[in-house]
Formats: sequence, C-alpha cells, structure tokens
Amino acid sequence: MTRAEDGTILVVEDDGAVRNLVATALDVHGYRHREVSTARAALLELTSASDINLVILDLGLPDRDGVEVIKALRGWASTPVIVLSARQEDADKVSALDAGADDYLTKPFSVEELMARVRVALRRLAAQPAGAASSDVLYENGPLAIDFEAGVATLSGQELHLTPMEYKLLVLLARNTGKVLTHNFILKEVWGDAVVSDLPSLRVFMATLRKKIEPAEAGPRYIQTHVGIGYRMLRVEDPQA
Ligand code: CA
Repeated sequence: MTRAEDGTILVVEDDGAVRNLVATALDVHGYRHREVSTARAALLELTSASDINLVILDLGLPDRDGVEVIKALRGWASTPVIVLSARQEDADKVSALDAGADDYLTKPFSVEELMARVRVALRRLAAQPAGAASSDVLYENGPLAIDFEAGVATLSGQELHLTPMEYKLLVLLARNTGKVLTHNFILKEVWGDAVVSDLPSLRVFMATLRKKIEPAEAGPRYIQTHVGIGYRMLRVEDPQA
C-alpha cells in the first residue's frame, strides 16, 4: 500500500442515506473513513485530524455551503476534494472547482463511479507528494512524455511540434492529471487573466493540441471535456501495469 492509501477519507454529507451508501462502499473497498454531517464538523476534523487524505464533500450542507469548506481548507492544505452535488447547475460545480475541488459527481451517482474517482484522487496524491510536483523533470503518461527542463513533449518517442500556447496548456493539464480544471482556472494560468471572451480561443488551442496528442482514432484519449465546466487530463493505463 502506498502512503496516500494509508490515510482516512472524510465523508461530509447531511443526507443519511447517501452518507451510509458512501460509507458502505468505502468499507467494501477497504478504505478507512469517518463521516460528519455539517460544514462545522468537517472543518473541525480537517483542522484537528492529520490523517485525512481525501474529502468527499456534499455541497448542500445545513450550516454552510460546501464551497466555503473548500475555500477554508485551501488556506492551509491541498488535500484532494471530491464534490457531491445534488444541483444540476454547472455554476455550482464550477465555483467548487474554482475554489480548489479536484473532482465532482452529480447526484444521483453510481457507487462504482465514485470509487473510480476516489482511486484517481488517491493515485494522483501518491504520484505527487507535497512539494515535489514542481521539481519533477519528466512526465510520462502512456506514450506521452514531457521533459519539463528541455521544454519538449514527445508521443511514442516522436517530438511533438507544439506552439508555445499549446505547450503551456499541455503542461498545465499534465501537472494536474486526474483533476478537473475549469475554463477560468486554465485561462488564468495560461493567459494570466480570465476573460470570458477568451473562451473561444481556449477551445481552438485545445482542439489543435488534441489533434497532436491524440492523432489516432483508436489511440489513447488524454483530454476529457467537461461541457460548461472545463477539461481534465486522464491517466492512460500503462500497458505494462
Ligand atoms: Ca445535502
């Protein structure tokens, strides 16, 4: 077991049925977990317990909005957060992701889907120990590789001819593999400013980047589109694993 899987998952959910469903699923998969039903109790756990390695957070809590919990937590920790939202509005998910959530699920969700997201979040945590992410010089994800020091990206050993903007986008997505990045976040990181009118150009750069890193129909799909929200770089399963 890796370090990331040794911790405790904090489930924050005021709906007893959903809380039990999540707790049972975590039990079945052998994850340690604790449950709370208010934002206040969640913040108390997060400030006093050091063993929490992942938070599964309902946005509609009785005392405070779940987004407020994420904002507070991000003041001192980068613990991954998977948001559960009963609301259909994309705006809620976007504000949660902008506040620093890593992923989201819309209720009703399947337990299998939640467990898959939990695995992704923990694997991402294991792959990026605190403080080490920026010093990593080589990124590998299936046939895709990036040498950050040389500023070169390759696919199956062949150098990709990327424009500076495409390369910046690729690096941002790669450094956040497994995490849903909102349009706002990407615009801020890559353009230095989040202007809504830049969204069409982001789409164009993303399309041209995709053509270069996903050339074959049958090949790996790296970039996942979250309509109305943003994009996520997926971890392509290692054929040797
Ligand atoms: Ca709720």
